[in-house]
Amino acid sequence: MSEVSKEYNFSEVENKWVQSWDSSVYHFDWESKKPQYIIDTPPPYPTGDFHIGNALNWCYIDYVARYKRMKGYNVMFPQGWDCHGLPTEVKVEQLNHITKNQVPREEFRRLCEKLTFEAIERFHKSMGRLGLSIDWSNEYVTMKPEYYGKTQTSFVRMFNNGQIYRANHPVNWCPRCGTAIAFAEVEYDSRTTTLNYMRFPAKDGDMQIATSRPELLPACVAVAVNPEDDRYGRYIGKNVSVPLFDYEVPVIADPVVDTSFGTGIVMICTFGDRQDVRWWMEHHLPLRQAIDREGRLTDIAGPYSGLSVTEAKKKITQDMVDRGIIFKQEPLDQNVGLCWRCKTPIEILSEQQWFVKINREEIKKTAEEIDWVPPHMQVRLRNWADSMEWDWCISRQRIFATPIPVWYCRHCHEPMIAREEWLPLDPNQTSPPEKCKCGSSDFVAEQDVLDTWMDSSISALAVAGWPKRKDLRMPTQLRPQGHDIIRTWAFYTILRTKSLENVRPWDTILINGMALGEDGHKMSKSLNNFIRPEEVFQSNGADALRQWAAMGGSPGNDIMFQWKEITAASRFQQKLWSIYRFSLPLIAKVDSQPGQVDRWLLGELDSLIAKATTAMDAFQFDEAMKAIRGFAWEVLADNYIELVKARLYGPDSPEKRGAQNTLYTALVTISKLMAPISPFISEEIHHTLTGKSVHVQSWPEPSGAAIDPAGLAIKEIAAALRRYKAEKGMALNSPLQGIVVYSDLALETVDLVGVANSQVESRTGVPQIERKPVAVKPQMKVIGPRFKDRSGKIIKALSGMDPALVADQKARGTIAVPVDGETIEVPELAAEIVVESLSAGEAVDVLRLDGATVLVRR
Ligand SMILES: [Zn+2]
Ligand SMILES: [Zn+2]
Repeated sequence: MSEVSKEYNFSEVENKWVQSWDSSVYHFDWESKKPQYIIDTPPPYPTGDFHIGNALNWCYIDYVARYKRMKGYNVMFPQGWDCHGLPTEVKVEQLNHITKNQVPREEFRRLCEKLTFEAIERFHKSMGRLGLSIDWSNEYVTMKPEYYGKTQTSFVRMFNNGQIYRANHPVNWCPRCGTAIAFAEVEYDSRTTTLNYMRFPAKDGDMQIATSRPELLPACVAVAVNPEDDRYGRYIGKNVSVPLFDYEVPVIADPVVDTSFGTGIVMICTFGDRQDVRWWMEHHLPLRQAIDREGRLTDIAGPYSGLSVTEAKKKITQDMVDRGIIFKQEPLDQNVGLCWRCKTPIEILSEQQWFVKINREEIKKTAEEIDWVPPHMQVRLRNWADSMEWDWCISRQRIFATPIPVWYCRHCHEPMIAREEWLPLDPNQTSPPEKCKCGSSDFVAEQDVLDTWMDSSISALAVAGWPKRKDLRMPTQLRPQGHDIIRTWAFYTILRTKSLENVRPWDTILINGMALGEDGHKMSKSLNNFIRPEEVFQSNGADALRQWAAMGGSPGNDIMFQWKEITAASRFQQKLWSIYRFSLPLIAKVDSQPGQVDRWLLGELDSLIAKATTAMDAFQFDEAMKAIRGFAWEVLADNYIELVKARLYGPDSPEKRGAQNTLYTALVTISKLMAPISPFISEEIHHTLTGKSVHVQSWPEPSGAAIDPAGLAIKEIAAALRRYKAEKGMALNSPLQGIVVYSDLALETVDLVGVANSQVESRTGVPQIERKPVAVKPQMKVIGPRFKDRSGKIIKALSGMDPALVADQKARGTIAVPVDGETIEVPELAAEIVVESLSAGEAVDVLRLDGATVLVRR
């Protein structure tokens, strides 16, 4: 047997297994008869590096994947890459100091692909080092035609089913990115702006209106008051004039108008905010688009056209102040919608876009068929569904994304939607192989592309074999994801899976928290609390990082990265390694009869298996890890091994073989229970002991072994003997003079002999113990104050008296002490009696335990 190092060398062990593991054992078997367990793994945006937050999320997935494999499932742990979208485009623009329109479309796409492939390579490396059991035979890359062809198929099918349509409709628009974005991509931030009070001329007297966006005056289409507001009833149904731009708009009544804000009159513009969109639709108002796609004022703004929103705001305000139209200004705190990617304030523009219909009730109902872990996360999805104002805008005016497979006829302007069998395609590169209904073959390609969530929201379908496989494996079993993307990825996936295949996407959704820095804040390079997984790999290894993730708490909660948790994990690994190193030369897998102490340990092991199984089934990885640590450290190392050392070191015997086999079983079982969480050290131990990989083993099942009460009693007795020696200041291996154990159980003595280092006799029943007074201890603190200068003599006399006689007198309240021929009565507290326990005439120390009494010869 090769030398086992004293210190656990995580770096050597982990690097060895990273290089030698056969990853094909993690492949999903499409032909298998085992029950399937498909995980709809998140496809990350491969832009930056694999960070601690990713590590946390992927650890959870890997625990589940490894556990389910050991439980006999045919597991798929696929890995996708969500390549498309703004993050990559913005990064390419930054790195190359360009904007998307400054290079040819193809060149821009090529730059994005290059950046993405480089990032995927880095992710691959980190994921391998973390020991993830990813099924690389099910890898997908959304920017490749094999995948985006599926996205296009989903588009075509949903268009044909009437679930996708094209319409002119208000959308959220980022002027910097030059694209429409979805609600889920709008972030809100509070800012202080100015509320301007201005006069709108009207026949019945000027109306005073307060607004924070005077630059939207040319987009004003109506003025609204609350019908309950007595101040303004006379205006309803009449017209007012828009100042500065000099055109008339109607005054309408709407109960939503807040009478307490500003003057209680609002101007409705197309569009200042979502409320404007609601009023515009409900009251069938006209459209006046004053802001264009670049965020500049349009021709209807007259002299202000061409100015940016910021410039126009300044100039229009100034002009109105100069003309006395604005008569009051005050600061206003406001929530502003920003582009999630570039933080530019968004505008709401009415644009010809593609939309996916949202059926809120169906989405909420489907969400209820899914098991949410933790359950309260489902509320977030429901609230989000209820807050959606209009359908999902899926077209983007960008480049690096899945092309929309559509052309428009130049002759009759009808759209030509690609047929499924033509896909994948880019309409900018391919013409339709058919003529238009009108007979024309002259087409113009759709320039817009799809929202990247259109790619990732079919991830569950794609990994389950959609659209080609006849035996579509839906629903999948698990969706692991962060709580930050419930309203996007979870929401859209439920919507799309239900629309396309009328099925729920998963049985269970497991929500993980975010990884925070040691200071409790979100990790960021600027806060200087940013830890790269590679730092931990180098200092403590991947298993330690994985244990931190497991110990961090329940799913759904944010968890702080803490070096002290990493250190604790390393300390436990060292402890386990020491147990293993001690055991290795002594243990063996042999036929044997376990003794009482062995059966106690095997019973404890059984209960550990049950606890770990329950915890893993409930995704309570912290509970599983705590149970394993507690068992290894306290039950196995502190108690069992200390008990059976003598047997293990002794000559071959049935008792020795019992201990050898029990310790072997315990170590093999621990390595299996730890395999999902700490795959490296588990593999090292299991492989050395058995010659086989732990990662193709079955999860241990409880054998039903009960804890042997006799073994438990022996363990308690041994602990009492160790305490006894410690109290006496004796070394733990120093010999005792002989021990008799009384108990109702017939106890095996072999391990107690080892612990006591003396003869041990086991008897049933209760011992006869005689308590004999053997000495008198005078109490100076009682005698001194009362008898002053006679104290010395009294103490001397007391010490010389017969202890049995003094004990008798104490019971009566006073003690008669003969001093200088005279008898002095002292209180009974003046003396204590030292009593010795005797058993069968021999002096013994008595250790009383639950169910056992131990006599130690003195
Ligand atoms: Zn933007
Ligand atoms: Zn046509």
